[in-house]
Amino acid sequence: MSNDAEILAKEIDQAFPLIGMPSPEEIQRHSTGCPTCEHLAADLESYRDKLIGVEVIREFHQEIPHLSAKALQWILPYYLKYCLTPEAEYSGFETEFLIYSLAPVEEFEADVTCQLSLFNSNQIRVLRKFMAYLLSTHYWRSYCPVELDRGIAFLSKLLISQDL
Ligand SMILES: [Zn+2]
Repeated sequence: MSNDAEILAKEIDQAFPLIGMPSPEEIQRHSTGCPTCEHLAADLESYRDKLIGVEVIREFHQEIPHLSAKALQWILPYYLKYCLTPEAEYSGFETEFLIYSLAPVEEFEADVTCQLSLFNSNQIRVLRKFMAYLLSTHYWRSYCPVELDRGIAFLSKLLISQDL
């Protein structure tokens, strides 16, 4: 892990307290009739009371829009730190989907704002640092520059509205 990544990992630890896994009902973003939400909550259930490792992140990384604000509060600290590991660098997929989820196009900004609504401004600031860190790496700067810029702008906008 690079020096920058180590510093960021410590900031993530300090900013995001670990909480227990929410109940299946609390994990689902869409309250009724969304099969993806239902499947996801059922699949995640098999990880309850276990150590959160890469298997859990792989389970849902393509379905982040179906996770509730509370579910993100639970899983994001693990997810962010996973993205800083060599394993995540090698795979790339999980980090890529997280970038997309934090960089909504205008149409989905309200959705993502809602999903991030349980995070305080310090936590949003660390999310923005995470995106800035990725933008500083050769790989992500060449692969997702537009999304990373959009994500940083979106998170900055959230911070301004939280400070009001
Ligand atoms: Zn859903």
